[in-house]
Amino acid sequence: MLDYVIRNARVPGAANGGAVDIGFSKGKIAAIEPKLVADSPSYDAQGCLCCGGLVETHIHLDKSRIIDRCTPEPSRENSNHMKRVAAVKDGFTVEDIYNRAKVTLENCIKQGTTRIRTHAEIDMPVGTKCIEALQMLQKEYAWAVDLEICAFAQEGLAKVPEADKALVQAIEMGATSVGGAPNYDTDHPAHINRVFELARQYDIHVDLHIDSGHDPATMDNMLVADLAEKYKYGGRVAMGHMTKVAALPPAKQKDIARRLADVGVAVTVLPATDLFVLARHRDYNVPRCITDANLFAEHGCNCSISTNNILNPFTPFGDCSLIRMANMHANVLQVGQPDRLTELFSMISDRSARLINAKDYGIKVGSQAEVTVIDAKTHAEAVAINAPVLAAFKRGRQTVSRPRAELMRP
Ligand SMILES: [Zn+2]
Repeated sequence: MLDYVIRNARVPGAANGGAVDIGFSKGKIAAIEPKLVADSPSYDAQGCLCCGGLVETHIHLDKSRIIDRCTPEPSRENSNHMKRVAAVKDGFTVEDIYNRAKVTLENCIKQGTTRIRTHAEIDMPVGTKCIEALQMLQKEYAWAVDLEICAFAQEGLAKVPEADKALVQAIEMGATSVGGAPNYDTDHPAHINRVFELARQYDIHVDLHIDSGHDPATMDNMLVADLAEKYKYGGRVAMGHMTKVAALPPAKQKDIARRLADVGVAVTVLPATDLFVLARHRDYNVPRCITDANLFAEHGCNCSISTNNILNPFTPFGDCSLIRMANMHANVLQVGQPDRLTELFSMISDRSARLINAKDYGIKVGSQAEVTVIDAKTHAEAVAINAPVLAAFKRGRQTVSRPRAELMRP
């Protein structure tokens, strides 16, 4: 017995050249076949692309939407992102974080995102207020999105006992992964080792900000790989940014990709922030500082593409569209071949779901009844034309509706 059907869905790889109906029963996908016989309520996808929901592996809901209260950049060369954010953290009450994060979360949902890992800062004076606010949203929006919290110290951990204490507290409150930002710490190895120590102690995942910068002279990614191997943490470790490798010759990049593939460490590329923040030392012929996700994936390393910052000094832009992030990556990295564009789509869907260890994901019988409908015919086309999302479904019910723009002819 089906309780809902998405008619005329396009699911690449499914039967009938991908033209199928998707039947839901009790919050699960129960059938994927052409012309399902059922008199249950239905949605007509009109032949549009359907995927198992878009997956955001790296966003900062708690520090989104603060650009209006931050001082402007002193200059392009001296942008002071960190200090300008830290300077307004006094105003981060639970209510303030909740209100800002809520608007950003709703925008993510409207853009077809159904699963999110949000990185939450526990530095003083905010401490675990962000965890409190995010857990309220986690419950309130469970009908539309699975929200996972990754707690981390943005402003130093190794010699900051109050940050360490708040991080432990955040994990005990329910954060299901632990992150870090060793770039902003005095002792990178101590920071990274402590993150792995906490992950093992609480049996949670690791998702670090690693090697953000333009100069590959010193990097931390191989330490992360070594620890993932040593502690048998393969499949549970991700690194965001890793932009320094973009300055290496391809042969060196491939070596790193193969090592990460061997030990099961994934990479998240964050094109909007990296393009905005990095290489400010150059005022012409500026390097792009974006890790080539296709190259890494082609050498066995799982990759995702995500949003990171929305309307704050690290990225004063953002509409929460993951398709736009994939398109930006394709444009900047000069990715034009359809199979590589298809791979970029998987980095905001299937590959991202794998990175966050999502359960019951994807359009297959037995998965959660979770579908995003996109106004395109193929994955590659969705990325190429920055296609809009028309509808989303979560736990068997429609959560988003967005009509197509229509011409008003004379
Ligand atoms: Zn981040």
